[in-house]
Amino acid sequence: MTVDVKKSEYHMELEHTYGAHNYHPIPVVISKAEGVWVWDPEGRKYMDCLSSYSAVNQGHRHPKIIAAMTEQAGRLTLTSRAFYNDRLGEFLKKLTEFAQMEMALPMNTGAEAVETAIKIARKWGYKKKGVEDNKAEIITCEENFHGRTTTIVGFSTDPIAREGFGPSTPGFRIIPYNNIKALEDAITPNTVGFLVEPIQGEAGVKVPSPGYLKEAQAVCGKNNVLLMLDEVQTGFCRTGKMFCWMHESAKPDILMVGKALGGGVYPVSAALASKDVMSVIGPGEHGSTFGGNPLACAVATAALDILVDEKLGERAEELGVRFRDGLAALNSDKIGAIRGMGLLNAIDIKPEAGKARQYTEKMKDLGVLAKETHETTIRFAPPLVIEEDQIDWLVEKIGEALA
Ligand SMILES: *Cc1c(COP(=O)(O)O)cnc(C)c1O
Repeated sequence: MTVDVKKSEYHMELEHTYGAHNYHPIPVVISKAEGVWVWDPEGRKYMDCLSSYSAVNQGHRHPKIIAAMTEQAGRLTLTSRAFYNDRLGEFLKKLTEFAQMEMALPMNTGAEAVETAIKIARKWGYKKKGVEDNKAEIITCEENFHGRTTTIVGFSTDPIAREGFGPSTPGFRIIPYNNIKALEDAITPNTVGFLVEPIQGEAGVKVPSPGYLKEAQAVCGKNNVLLMLDEVQTGFCRTGKMFCWMHESAKPDILMVGKALGGGVYPVSAALASKDVMSVIGPGEHGSTFGGNPLACAVATAALDILVDEKLGERAEELGVRFRDGLAALNSDKIGAIRGMGLLNAIDIKPEAGKARQYTEKMKDLGVLAKETHETTIRFAPPLVIEEDQIDWLVEKIGEALA
């Protein structure tokens, strides 16, 4: 194996000089990874507690995913959807079975899955619900994160994400998260969908009250509004079930998935719905050159199998409890709150203890890579293949960083 002998500073300098400054990374360069671990060019080892925002649930470079990808790369990679390919059908069948939905429309990134869902919901509104042309409304929540396209950032309430990118796409109405009354009040005859995250990941792992999704489902059902769940981050066992909606049987009308569907190696996403809802999309009305390509399908099929074969949902559930109990037992006077579900967790740093960034940089020095979100919250979302003793090690390191 060739190891990059160039120093970390060199790579950071190059990125800084030639790349747009649209991120503010923790100052660490990753040049190798396996399972829950990553290494920098100097050979220092770190535990990955971000998992690329939950895209690496199966662990870095899972051998079965790499094998499936390599095998497929040796045979067929891209056909476009102008032709059929011999991988897409079986992948779609598996994905829809896992999600308990009837049909899927494959794309590449999470934002594209959300855009797809928005298009489906609007079209459904005009064709099925009878909303007057160009009047469709979609309800979204404060502090949402659904991606970075111009339409999506137009209904973000984060000024950094939204400001300077207007004019915003019309047709979105924003309500407080975790508030059923606000949802009921916001619905009009033109409302076609309610777009919501089962847990708000980027907002700082905001877990709604138990029953919120189920009640939202009932309100949507009563008003002929589509429940649109964005499970790009919460999906694929991250919260302890295959999908977060399964905790309360709040099955959506449209489901958006991405991130871990690509097993940490390849961007794969999709919007899923019933046959009836999906039928509003006809040939030529939506698509993607790379969406549903054979390489993506091979990777995603392997990524899905691993979730079941390695019982990653049950592991996330159990180890999540162990992790939160461990954090609570630290009794740290710097932790204001501990929250999460499965292995999607976060701590709030108390205001008097300073900014979260100083602790994430300290954790890096101790071999733990976690990222702050906003200024006071640190998210912990290790790959779901993490072991019990590694959870205990992680808790110990967090304790040291906070001491
Ligand atoms: C990451 C994320 C997206 C966007 O996914 P990309 O692949 O970055 O476009 C959308 N929704 C949620 C909830 C996410 O966490």
